[in-house]
Amino acid sequence: MDRRLSLSSEHLRLLDPEGTEGVLLGTRCGQCGVTVFGPTALCPHCTSDELTQVELSRHGQVWSYTFVHTPTKEWKGEVPYALVDVELPEGPRVLAALVDCRFGDVRIGMPVALALRVAEVDGDGNQIVAYRWRPVGSPASLGAGQ
Ligand SMILES: [Zn+2]
Repeated sequence: MDRRLSLSSEHLRLLDPEGTEGVLLGTRCGQCGVTVFGPTALCPHCTSDELTQVELSRHGQVWSYTFVHTPTKEWKGEVPYALVDVELPEGPRVLAALVDCRFGDVRIGMPVALALRVAEVDGDGNQIVAYRWRPVGSPASLGAGQ
């Protein structure tokens, strides 16, 4: 089987060699307790550098959304696509594409779960896995495409 690698190891940790399970990573401030998505050198709330990497929840709620008709040139998935800003129980919001959902079904407050998708294949044949959101109840399987 081809190797699967995280698109960004500072934001998404793959938990198994097949890259079918993963968890989002955040940074928690030991001074004020604020949690942010991904790495940060200083706490954006209190500027403390007393920071710890933490694993974030795999579920959240849609806080905002938009439909992208003109993606950046790095985007390899289908167009148009739904881009959702999802609020996690720990506080941070995580912006990513929404998969397995008809555009008309997207709602503010909708519960969503983490989904992993192969975003692209690199020059060495590795499958690059990206984080996406999916409606709760849809299959979690790691498929091709966006
Ligand atoms: Zn802080």
